[in-house]
Amino acid sequence: MPRGFAGADAPAAWPRLPGTPRPERAAASVSTLSGVGPALDKKLAKLGLRSVRDLLEHRPHRYESAVPERPIAELLIGEEAAIAGEVRSVSVRRPRRNLAIVSARVADGSDEIVAVWFNQAWLVDKLQPGTRVRLRGQLKRSGFQVRSYDLNGVAATADFAPVYPASEEVTPQRLRGLVERALPAARDLQDPLPAELKAAERLPLRADALWALHRPRSLEEGEAGRRRLAFDELLVLQVGLARARAGREAAVAPALGEPGELVARYRGLLPFELTADQESAIREIDTDLAREAPMQRLLQGDVGSGKTVVALYALLRAVEAGRVGALMAPTETLAEQHFLTVEPLCTQLGVRVALLTGSVKSELGGAQIVVGTHALIQEGVDLGELGVAVVDEQHRFGVEQRRALTSRTPSPGVNASRAKPATLSDGTAGGASGGVSGGAGLQGSAPHVLHMTATPIPRTLALTLYGDLSVTEIAKPPASRKPIVTSWVTAERSSEAYRRLRRHLDEGRQAYVVCPLIEESETSQSRAAEAEAERLRRAELRDYRVGLLHGRLRPAERRALMAQFKARELDVLVATTVIEVGVDVPNATIMIVQEADRFGLAQLHQLRGRVGRGAEQSYCLLISRPREELTDNAQERLQALVDSADGFDLAEKDLELRGEGQLLGTRQAGISDLRFVHWRADRPLLERARAAAGGLVDYEGPLADEVERVFAEPELAA
Ligand code: ADP
Ligand code: MG
Repeated sequence: MPRGFAGADAPAAWPRLPGTPRPERAAASVSTLSGVGPALDKKLAKLGLRSVRDLLEHRPHRYESAVPERPIAELLIGEEAAIAGEVRSVSVRRPRRNLAIVSARVADGSDEIVAVWFNQAWLVDKLQPGTRVRLRGQLKRSGFQVRSYDLNGVAATADFAPVYPASEEVTPQRLRGLVERALPAARDLQDPLPAELKAAERLPLRADALWALHRPRSLEEGEAGRRRLAFDELLVLQVGLARARAGREAAVAPALGEPGELVARYRGLLPFELTADQESAIREIDTDLAREAPMQRLLQGDVGSGKTVVALYALLRAVEAGRVGALMAPTETLAEQHFLTVEPLCTQLGVRVALLTGSVKSELGGAQIVVGTHALIQEGVDLGELGVAVVDEQHRFGVEQRRALTSRTPSPGVNASRAKPATLSDGTAGGASGGVSGGAGLQGSAPHVLHMTATPIPRTLALTLYGDLSVTEIAKPPASRKPIVTSWVTAERSSEAYRRLRRHLDEGRQAYVVCPLIEESETSQSRAAEAEAERLRRAELRDYRVGLLHGRLRPAERRALMAQFKARELDVLVATTVIEVGVDVPNATIMIVQEADRFGLAQLHQLRGRVGRGAEQSYCLLISRPREELTDNAQERLQALVDSADGFDLAEKDLELRGEGQLLGTRQAGISDLRFVHWRADRPLLERARAAAGGLVDYEGPLADEVERVFAEPELAA
């Protein structure tokens, strides 16, 4: 039968029109770009750059300024300028080890000059006589010191050339080239904004925004591009939160009524008066618990501000209503610490408590308060009728645990480290997240949930990330507490620091020594700590009882050690960062942090919070390498700790030092979203996104795809 007459058969696929977006091109691995082999691929992955899209969304942290292009004859000493010319000759010198100087004679019509590069010996081959170059740099006595250069065409030396966050392995220059190659794929990305919204908000096309971000002709153009991309991020976040909220509205929790006799006795048992902030936190919690809508409250307070006391109150409210209270911590050490704190009080109150971690499975039968790690929410654990769940340091939970958690408790969906509710893509009714169905232990109704965090985040940020989660802050620590005195000394004065530490020990106080941070593994970290404890036992702490706490100890050993330290059978606890949270020994009044420059600001603040927990004046001594060897950033971090003891201040500072999009306390790599938002400057933008999101909850199309991508995709583990 003859075939092929027009109209007889439609082809299986129509030919692609030129210019049709090809999303798969943007989604492809960076290795599909020319010049990216397996080695570079790995180095890029360390920067979180895995796909072409990642490169497109790699935000420059600044732009080069505009500089004049001058004839060589008119260069001024000290002025930053660009020159364009031809290489006449090139040579390399190595005056000492670790130093290579490349010099090239460059001529334009007006004159000739020697251009100088440091430590880029490989450039010699590329700068052969006759090569056309454009150089940006500064005329010094020794010649023209090159900051950036172009060998073919203008890119790096252009006015407003982007400067990318880079690593030692991948230079900003290299990244510029890669982004250049990725840019054509900007047209392949879907534009998530509905057209009407784009028009109403007067926002550019997404592809144009990306071009403007990477190739601005002015700073304003770059900023306009950034703002469009920030708007997308905020909108996606707000739509995701609105969906989660819609899913939660249906959930019902047991209304727990008025505070009763048990919590009254609890108050009576406490050896101190609650602070005003604690009282108001309790009032807010009581109001939440009286309702049938599940409580979703974030309790923020600095380390040692007295959150645990409030948390236990909430748990006891569940108990007196005949239900179970669960306290969940991200690590075994922290869970055990909580257990040690909570158990004696509960025993006095006649409340049965159980500890449940990966390695401790005590009898749950009849427990009224259960303390544990994520083991609590594992399959087959029957918690009975859960009334109140307290989730401590939720942002430290790993992805999987957070998923389990969000599908069992009506979580706010997003937490400080941007946990993604897993249920968005699971086809839950209306795409709603939050897992309102409850888990095995929840028996149909949802518990009231109190989230606790000691890494406070600025309130606007918290509201953005947690949607309509209510936020309570314990801003002031108990009045009896004196602010910790922090000093920063360099290593050559460490013997002085230890002398001070011994003075405290001689007065009957206890101390912590925190070992240097080692990136490699828990095992090498623990080994190094063992070696350091041995060294200290022979040297600085010869006459004292020294215990060693690290992550490789078995839980029983760790518990025994903590109990010994609490009972003052040990003078000093040498520890890795496992003491960062939860350890509570008021008699410990001094801490030495070795090689403090290796730690992050938030982490140091957390560590420091282990002292200053009693009425005595406490001290934190930060020891670092000599100042000259520290990066500016490290110096600022240490100075910030000396200057401020306020966690909220430090949170802002940390945000500033780490770049706007990075959230405090988020340790997992791969938390790459929200990279375009400037928290302070973009508040109005946030409001606009929030307003727009309300009408877009059920919107289908590219925006919905984007919401699912952001909320459902597991973060890549480090
Ligand atoms: P956080 O959990 O916020 O780090 P905790 O609840 O563990 O703080 O309290 C830190 C220390 O302060 C504990 O030793 C606790 O007993 C004590 N504490 C808590 N509230 C008060 C208060 N109102 N007055 C005096 N001490 C308090
Ligand atoms: Mg605590």
